[in-house]
Amino acid sequence: MSLVIPAPAAVLVPVLGGGEFPVRRVYCVGRNYAEHAQEMGFTGREPPFFFLKPADNIVVVPEGETGAIDYPTLTTNFHHEIELVAAIGTGGRNIKAADAQAHVYGYAVGLDMTRRDLQSDMKKQGRPWEIGKAFDQSAPIGPIVPATQTGPLNSGAITLHVNGQPRQSSDVKELIWNIAEIIEHLSAAWELQPGDLIYTGTPAGVAAVVRGDVMEGRVAGLPLLRVTVR
Ligand code: MN
Repeated sequence: MSLVIPAPAAVLVPVLGGGEFPVRRVYCVGRNYAEHAQEMGFTGREPPFFFLKPADNIVVVPEGETGAIDYPTLTTNFHHEIELVAAIGTGGRNIKAADAQAHVYGYAVGLDMTRRDLQSDMKKQGRPWEIGKAFDQSAPIGPIVPATQTGPLNSGAITLHVNGQPRQSSDVKELIWNIAEIIEHLSAAWELQPGDLIYTGTPAGVAAVVRGDVMEGRVAGLPLLRVTVR
């Protein structure tokens, strides 16, 4: 049978050292650093919660390059959220945290870009967040580094600078729910598959960017992610 419309392009993230990682789904964890939960008006350890972005929200930024995203429509409060991303290589259901590391293919640095004003409006009204989170170009990502090279990434500095000035700074060990625990919770709700990405949450310091800003996101052991807003 022939396609009656063009097929959507595959979303392929380069892997450091060669090859490409085909993206199936993009899961995101909400409020997963205590100080960020506080700045969003919440305290205490709550069960992890999740939202998704379509795979075609990904903006691939190859190593050594500067990516560019358009300032999105409908917002006047466009926020950066620097995040460690885990890339799933082996799927499964009801994966226990103790077994989760074997399901991680690798790691990348990502940005969970957010139309904060729209997200806040939707929250207030008890409506879905998609318009604030799951919009075009909302998920820049750098190259994936295989876990065989990094080992399990359970600690290490995570930072975001805008125009050279520090905005977000923490350590991956401060995650309320670590990657293994996230995988346990996620795989109880959805069957994970190869190609799934998990944006693991952002530390405190989320704030707005404007056209012309340059964001530099870093997680220790992974390549820099550099993205401009145009
Ligand atoms: Mn986030």
